[in-house]
Amino acid sequence: MKLLVVEDESKTGDYLRQGLQEAGFVVDLARTGLDGHHLSQTEAYDLILLDVMLPDVDGWRIIQSLREAGKQTPVLFLTARDSIEDRVKGLELGADDYLVKPFAFAELLARVRTLLRRGTQPVHADRLQVADLVLDLSKRRATRAGVRVNLTGKEFALLELLVRRQGEVLPRSLIASQVWDMNFDSDTNVIDVAIRRLRAKIDDPHEVKLIHTIRGMGYSVENPLES
Ligand code: CA
Repeated sequence: MKLLVVEDESKTGDYLRQGLQEAGFVVDLARTGLDGHHLSQTEAYDLILLDVMLPDVDGWRIIQSLREAGKQTPVLFLTARDSIEDRVKGLELGADDYLVKPFAFAELLARVRTLLRRGTQPVHADRLQVADLVLDLSKRRATRAGVRVNLTGKEFALLELLVRRQGEVLPRSLIASQVWDMNFDSDTNVIDVAIRRLRAKIDDPHEVKLIHTIRGMGYSVENPLES
């Protein structure tokens, strides 16, 4: 298991690296936000421990860039202030958990292990993501690359189904029963029309296409860069 620690205070950084190495992890230590930002974007980690207060690129920016790039690496952020605003902000930006400094190393280790067990499963059940497309299920909102996409209720429901079962090919009959709650004749084009509208909003403005047609079978949503 490989971890990235981003921490500008050298004593804390050294202490975290040593403790985590002794616990059996491979650890990269970034001592600046810039370095942490670069490593988090270019290397593959199982978990990132992120100090929020960094003098150059702050921790918020690092989490934001990571999630915008579609990376689901779990992030545990470290904050010096026990403020609700900070916690909410971190979690909203896509962090998975947080610890308030100063903390006991044993607690940090316990949190790290819990997050690693969860793997890349999203912690928040009200959020679905594929690549840089994010669905906020409680607000019924979609964003792609951080930009809000306006969808009708049906379009959102269709997209939600496809993203929930990303990587699977969903036949039209299944889509019809799940999204329209009814059975369509096999020659109906209602679903194809809905997919076309969805594509125009979700995929057309972007180079990477997420909605795929599998001829004679149905539709799927998948990040082509990961398949
Ligand atoms: Ca700091």
